[in-house]
Amino acid sequence: MWVKNKMVQFLNLKRINEKSKTELQAAFTDVLDGGWYIRGKNCDEFEKKFAEYTGSHFCVGVANGLDALTLVLRAWKEMGKIVDGDEVIVPANTYIASILSILENNLIPVFVEPSAKTFNLDADLLEKNITPKTKVILPVHLYGQASDMTKIMQVADKHGLLVLEDSAQSHGAMVNMIDRSKMTGAIGHASGFSFYPGKNLGALGDAGAVTTNDPVLAAKVKTLSNYGSDKKYYNSMRGVNSRLDELQAALLTVKLNRLNEENAERVKIARTYLSGIKNPKIALPFFAGTRDHVFHLFVLRVKNRDEFMRHLTEQGVATLIHYPIPPHKQKALAQFNHLNLPITEAIHQECISIPMDPYMTADDIQTVIKACNSY
Ligand SMILES: *Cc1c(COP(=O)(O)O)cnc(C)c1O
Repeated sequence: MWVKNKMVQFLNLKRINEKSKTELQAAFTDVLDGGWYIRGKNCDEFEKKFAEYTGSHFCVGVANGLDALTLVLRAWKEMGKIVDGDEVIVPANTYIASILSILENNLIPVFVEPSAKTFNLDADLLEKNITPKTKVILPVHLYGQASDMTKIMQVADKHGLLVLEDSAQSHGAMVNMIDRSKMTGAIGHASGFSFYPGKNLGALGDAGAVTTNDPVLAAKVKTLSNYGSDKKYYNSMRGVNSRLDELQAALLTVKLNRLNEENAERVKIARTYLSGIKNPKIALPFFAGTRDHVFHLFVLRVKNRDEFMRHLTEQGVATLIHYPIPPHKQKALAQFNHLNLPITEAIHQECISIPMDPYMTADDIQTVIKACNSY
């Protein structure tokens, strides 16, 4: 197979971080010289800035996105809001982390099909999946596009359910709610964020955060993530070690300054793709044209995905699949393997992500478009 020697990369993290190189190096030096490496002033500052950014009252930095989700559910258990065996409604086509956070807490995931148009939880299917055991809805703003939060919050309010947003892919996506525009992560009762390096806001290692307007929940998450201790060597709960370190917090504070600009670049690239890719064999992602999508990923659907991938590789374009196997078909989740979720399964068979990087060049964008159109 002949492959161009200069591929259009899927995502160039080095190029992204180099944009802030001077500030990142200064932040690193500051932490190094500060001599305090976990949960200090940099963590406080990032939590304050990220709470402000999202429009939440509180932000608690934790070790990663999975822990953020897991700790919110755990805290709700400690607060007596949910108990073992309660049901959590979750989109079936999510990344496995959303499901693991539920199982880790001895809760039952109820897999609901997404809308084939938006890839997000089909809010019209919510009510028929609610049972007396349903306590939480866990919408995932997949690929950077906000879920139908107006409908989800209406259903949650009507049935007295908690809403935990998985905002790991949607930093900065805005939703026009009935009263005002709100950011994903500040609409439900709590949200989990991931700052995995490849996310729209990415650390230089693992990091995550919980956002919420509930002061009790925020305090519980903070305590649980520090061994269940809010006073050194006194443990009120059996917690875990999931703290945000000073270095990642300082680097994230620097990188937060460019998030809006980088999201705007992503949207620009998406618009160019949407107007440039014209091939009846390729289904383009739905974009409402509003601020509800920050294009963490640009995901196409094609019938013969392997063939399409091979074609793109030959044309010098890198691709990835998000995700090849849905959670309910994973070996790790054998108890759910029997479930039949045709929309989810079709998406997983046909989806393919093309390069999406805020600093990709105009030439690279055109290479991608030409490669798609020549398939
Ligand atoms: C990345 C991601 C997570 C988990 O984040 P980590 O920081 O990798 O633990 C959770 N949910 C979704 C949808 C994600 O994309």
